[in-house]
Amino acid sequence: MRKKQFKAESKKLMDLMINSIYTHKEIFLRELISNASDALDKLYFRSLTDPSVGLKKDEFIIRLHPDKDARTLTVSDNGCGMTAEELEQDLGTIAKSGSQIFKNETEKTKGVDIIGQFGVGFYSAFMVADRVTVVSRAFGAEKANRWESDGADGYTIEECDSDTFGTTVTLHLKEDTDDESYSRYLETYTLESLVKKYSDYIRHPIMMLVETQRLKEGTENEYETVTEDRTLNSMVPLWKRQRKNVKDEEYNNFYTEKFMDYEPPARIITSKTEGSATYTALLFIPKHPPFDYYTKEYEKGLQLYSRGVLIMDKCADLLPDYFSFVKGLVDSEDLSLNISRETLQQDAQLKLIAKTIEKKIKSELQKMLANEREAYEAFFKNFGIQLKFGVYNDYGMHKEELQDLLLFLSSNEKQYVTLSEYVGRMKDGQDTIYYACGETADKIDTLPQLEAVKEKGYEVLYCTEYVDEFALKMLHEYNGKHFQNVCDEQLDLSTEEEKNALKEKNENSKDLLAFLKETLGDSVTEVRFTNRLKNAAVCLTTEGGISLDMQRVLNAMPNGNKVKAETVLEINEEHPIAAKLADLFENDKDTLAEYAKLLYDQGCLISGAPVQDPAEFSRLISKLMVK
Ligand code: ADP
Repeated sequence: MRKKQFKAESKKLMDLMINSIYTHKEIFLRELISNASDALDKLYFRSLTDPSVGLKKDEFIIRLHPDKDARTLTVSDNGCGMTAEELEQDLGTIAKSGSQIFKNETEKTKGVDIIGQFGVGFYSAFMVADRVTVVSRAFGAEKANRWESDGADGYTIEECDSDTFGTTVTLHLKEDTDDESYSRYLETYTLESLVKKYSDYIRHPIMMLVETQRLKEGTENEYETVTEDRTLNSMVPLWKRQRKNVKDEEYNNFYTEKFMDYEPPARIITSKTEGSATYTALLFIPKHPPFDYYTKEYEKGLQLYSRGVLIMDKCADLLPDYFSFVKGLVDSEDLSLNISRETLQQDAQLKLIAKTIEKKIKSELQKMLANEREAYEAFFKNFGIQLKFGVYNDYGMHKEELQDLLLFLSSNEKQYVTLSEYVGRMKDGQDTIYYACGETADKIDTLPQLEAVKEKGYEVLYCTEYVDEFALKMLHEYNGKHFQNVCDEQLDLSTEEEKNALKEKNENSKDLLAFLKETLGDSVTEVRFTNRLKNAAVCLTTEGGISLDMQRVLNAMPNGNKVKAETVLEINEEHPIAAKLADLFENDKDTLAEYAKLLYDQGCLISGAPVQDPAEFSRLISKLMVK
């Protein structure tokens, strides 16, 4: 029979398995049992609507069979089975969990360590076996197929007979070595404890014939050996057990395996309610965003179970978008098994559950913020942007619920601050929450507009995420305090006297300013002198609702209508440039026009906007340099 070769990535994974020095090789059993359980689930689903399956709920069984003479361990199930094509497709090509490893491997380069925490799937069999045989008959098919591989050399497939549908995986265990006993996977005790450790909550019985000693009937101390068919797992799903009886390690294993993560979760949330909505929820906040989290491929949702039976893998209606990072499941007795996606959306019960879950997640985050600041900040770095979107989206419908979960970088040592902390330490007489926008905190630090505000001793929120300012605009105020962009033209920290002096200065320079405005055309709505700057010669401020940062974000959106911020060029009245401009206005209007452009371009650069005509900018600068 001709050997077929594995696909490239599968080959790589296979090599990793065969040569694995991983100490937790035992997880192969968990993987095979999980596959069997999935296959049983599939057929069980079908049996709900298809009587020809002919099995009752408790007749879907996984069976372990160690054979010491043959040195084989067999894991079999009477699940949906695989056709020849599926065998080829599913076992010849790397499966999703396997490809996940390589993604994460390149991300983290954790290599072999990942294996234990991760579902590596079928291939893990090659950590303990030097030959694996899979006989599978798909439900409804006449014939079965035998797939066989000794790992590196590829695999064969041939048709064969089988009495029943389902799958039998036979592992021809490796020879024992000095450091590794593979024979132990033939021992009842080992198998029993491995099932308990990894697969206890599998919903289908995992059975094994076990030889045991029993008191001979009619005797007092004579024993006989009998064979008993034992169920190895307790089958109670993890989430049905009381939290105090479950070790964190069990939750972590459950999470990493079920939700394809290589790291245990940052937080485990359990919730049980009875009354108007009866459900058990087991939720996790990941320690890092899933690799596809910020792509449109990412699907939010919780697994939905009805009385322990999975009815939907990703029920999106159970999570608001701003909590889309939460993983986990909900098991409710109130939902019918045959509920469809369409009717589910209308389901009042489901809505109620979703509301309660949302509250629970929120209160859990609040607790974390209050008691475990460091953990919360780590969480916020990963997912905070989602909460800010939550404030902004739906016309601000959820802003009040979310505002106290927000963190912003602060001018105060660039630490995170909540809005309530900010307001709590506002200076006497300060009635405004100041913020500034920019690409990074360091860049914001250099904004000339910031100087005056900082000099007054006011704290400033640093908005480095593009959604930040939109969220703040949507919030509008917090505890009666308005938000104010330090780059807004309205910001005025000067005294009455200073105000009047400035007004007069602008009045007296009317013609000069009009000339500058005319030169700059539509780029600005006004040019004026300012007293808000300390050292810098110029800055740009904006009037109306749209700041320069918002302009940049909005105009970057595909299909969005282009917007134009109403920009004011402000010139530092104290700077020597002011006198220079006045002089040029009297004596050299051509040069003045060029200076106007240079000043405006400087304003753009400082605020992080590109100059409109870099070539001209460069020409003017060079001209100035050779003067
Ligand atoms: P994963 O389980 O992550 O998809 P595996 O490598 O473990 O990756 O399995 C690949 C695929 O092979 C499974 O998705 C499933 O379709 C199929 N498969 C494996 N074991 C069985 C089984 N016992 N019964 C039916 N199908 C199976």
